[in-house]
Amino acid sequence: MKISVISPVYNECEVLPYLLDSLPKVLSKLTDQYEIILVNDGSSDGSDQIIRQRAQLDSRIKLVSFSRNFGQQAAITAGLDCVTGDIVVVMDCDMQDPPEMLSAMLDKIHQGYDIVSCRRTGRDGESIFKRWSSTAFYQVMRYGIDKRIEPEVGDFRMYTRRAVDALRAFREQHRFMRGVVAWLGLKEAILPFHRPARAAGQTKYPVSKLVKLAWTAISSSSPAPLKISSYLGFGMVVGSAIAASLCVLGLIGHWTIATSLAWIAFMLGLSGIQMCAIGLLGDYVGRVFEESKGRPLYVVNEVCNIDRTPEQPRALWLDSSDGQTPVRVEPRIYGPIVLPNPSRKVG
Ligand code: UDP
Ligand code: MG
Repeated sequence: MKISVISPVYNECEVLPYLLDSLPKVLSKLTDQYEIILVNDGSSDGSDQIIRQRAQLDSRIKLVSFSRNFGQQAAITAGLDCVTGDIVVVMDCDMQDPPEMLSAMLDKIHQGYDIVSCRRTGRDGESIFKRWSSTAFYQVMRYGIDKRIEPEVGDFRMYTRRAVDALRAFREQHRFMRGVVAWLGLKEAILPFHRPARAAGQTKYPVSKLVKLAWTAISSSSPAPLKISSYLGFGMVVGSAIAASLCVLGLIGHWTIATSLAWIAFMLGLSGIQMCAIGLLGDYVGRVFEESKGRPLYVVNEVCNIDRTPEQPRALWLDSSDGQTPVRVEPRIYGPIVLPNPSRKVG
């Protein structure tokens, strides 16, 4: 049984030594065959240098390096595209997803689950704002967008091979892995854990990036915001009928100034809502435009210890200096997902 670990890396030179020291020890207790795929998401702090050095000493440590910062979700996708293991783990590289959980997760896979996720029952080292916004985000996602999305469950997961094959079929540009996993509906176990603080360094998610991710999660999972804007529009039509009646009454009763002010406030509110609705619509149209271009989801310009070129659509792997990987731009292919029968015993 081979275990593959995928970890996205963005300017993490301070934490990489912790990960590269502890993860191999944990993995070697679980299996005699493993690989650790570190996807460098356009780091500028020499993270790729650290990974390259380790990869030269140990062929089980592998580097996939992007040409620029494509984002954590793209990095996870690239990792999933090139894993070779029977069991696949996705985890952050900052030790907030503890490698010690892997053993309990593996037990669940052996019990017949396709996906094992981890729920954060507590979080250390995170600001009150981040904890509060995260709780609010999961509430909005569950009650407004997709109730299958599990609260407080991040990207720290273990997958069977067939679950990975299913995930690989999703090639959309604006992706939110948690939404995709929920949509798939495979048999999922959830383990609780207390999320420790980062081993070192700072979060790579400032507020602006968090907001962007939250909006991608919402808009890539559902057209609900568009529906909300039409409900608001309907509400405004009713409101305008009420305001018009008040105006008539005001004119009869000579309350001209009061009604004029009310009218101005109402018009401003109405145009604000219209502008928001147009902006929302524009955002969705923009995403359709992005998708219609069919551009690659990421560009890989260097690999280390990756033996086989992945054959996934919308992935661009440039020839690396050792000539391992040919240039390829695949067309978009969306086919049905046909999963093999679940095997209760893995490996
Ligand atoms: N990450 C990435 N690309 C980005 C931002 C983050 O690959 O643009 C990686 C990062 O190196 C880490 C993981 O995604 O392995 C989670 O990031 P971080 O720990 O900063 O997020 P937080 O835990 O604070 O939510
Ligand atoms: Mg983190």
